[in-house]
Amino acid sequence: MKKCFVLLTMMGAISVTAQTDSRFYAIIDAVSAQRLEKDIRTLADFGTRNTFSDTLSNTRGIGAARRWIKAEFDKIDKECKNCLDVFYQKDLVTPKDGSRIPKEAYVVNVVAIQRGTKYPNRFVIMTGDIDSRNSDTMDYTNDAPGANDNASGMAGTIEAARVLSKYSFENSIIYLGLSGEEQGLFGGKGFAEFAKKNNWEIIGVLNNDMIGNIEGVDGVIDNRTFRIFSEPTPVTETEKERNQRRFYGGEVDGISRQLARYIHKSVTTYMPEMNPMMVYRLDRFGRGGHHRPFNDLGYPGVRIMEAHENYNRQHQNTRVENGINYGDVIEGVNFEYAKKLTAVNAIVLAGLGWSPPEPKNVTIGGVVEPNTKLKWDKVADDSVIGYKIYWRLTTAPQWENSRFVGNVDAFELKGIVIDNYYFGVASVHKNGQESVVVFPSAVMRSTGK
Ligand SMILES: [Zn+2]
Repeated sequence: MKKCFVLLTMMGAISVTAQTDSRFYAIIDAVSAQRLEKDIRTLADFGTRNTFSDTLSNTRGIGAARRWIKAEFDKIDKECKNCLDVFYQKDLVTPKDGSRIPKEAYVVNVVAIQRGTKYPNRFVIMTGDIDSRNSDTMDYTNDAPGANDNASGMAGTIEAARVLSKYSFENSIIYLGLSGEEQGLFGGKGFAEFAKKNNWEIIGVLNNDMIGNIEGVDGVIDNRTFRIFSEPTPVTETEKERNQRRFYGGEVDGISRQLARYIHKSVTTYMPEMNPMMVYRLDRFGRGGHHRPFNDLGYPGVRIMEAHENYNRQHQNTRVENGINYGDVIEGVNFEYAKKLTAVNAIVLAGLGWSPPEPKNVTIGGVVEPNTKLKWDKVADDSVIGYKIYWRLTTAPQWENSRFVGNVDAFELKGIVIDNYYFGVASVHKNGQESVVVFPSAVMRSTGK
């Protein structure tokens, strides 16, 4: 447990929190490369997991794959004495819904929810994909092992559930297997709409798509670097918000970007051997992933994936051509690397699972003044011991400076000129965990406080 020391001085009570929390190291160590290998092999051995493949066989096709995934979640649920709600969530798609839908079928997602003890309606979500494809997305009968794309992300999601089900969290965690990714992101779309319909508050979505390949098509081999893709600002913002940004800034400070910064900080703190690479875009150039349907509805979400893709090993029929091996086969997956990226997810899920709700209505002021003022609505939670103001130079990718300002709802940073920095506020739990940083959404005029 994180220790919080309270020192009494002439100035009053000052709390000093330890830098790290040993639970995170235990979580990292508990992730198993052997179990990941076993699960990735099992998924690849279903032959094809194309969304439109066989649903009746117990050994081949997406039906067998999703039943196996559900059975794994059920096993974990049994071991943790029913800490998970496991169920299917599905939507029907027909050829009218898109050009990559060969026939009518249900897009079936597998869901495992670990309910939060305090905030069951606040969710942090890890996703992997159930489905796979070969050279032709419409070919739902021939082999498409999809060992890296995306059995790796799916296996990582199951493994995170195994590890984190040993703990309890204040917020809910969802371990989610999505289908229909290769046919047009249908599983994510259906599930994001399901979340909206249920009025879920989503803290963040971690979409894991290809987390096992360390050998790039360019020959670079790197088992330390991975990418965090995040869109700059929400696509759901209003015209007014867009206009305000021109005068107040925030072009690189949307909710998904703050989530990406949270991930980056967690990794540099607890897994310093890794090189997280922030990519300031929604996804790869012109390509898609399952975080996007969540972003489309205004939820924060990022894509976590390997740094060096190998295009010979994705979306390819398994074959040898001109001496080159094509196909997304098991040999292309590095299980130790998949373990590291699974651990990245696990510590982020745990950190956010233990984090307090973020402050609302963060407002900033200080035009033509030597000081910057911030105010916010306090969180109605006795576990929140106070708030931390973050700031950084406008060209800096990460929050560089911070100050814990105590349990107040406003603060003035003396001698910090508003023009030269970006600012944000996070709430701090007595367990040491912090919310994602909130970028100001309103401006206070110099006369008003
Ligand atoms: Zn793919």
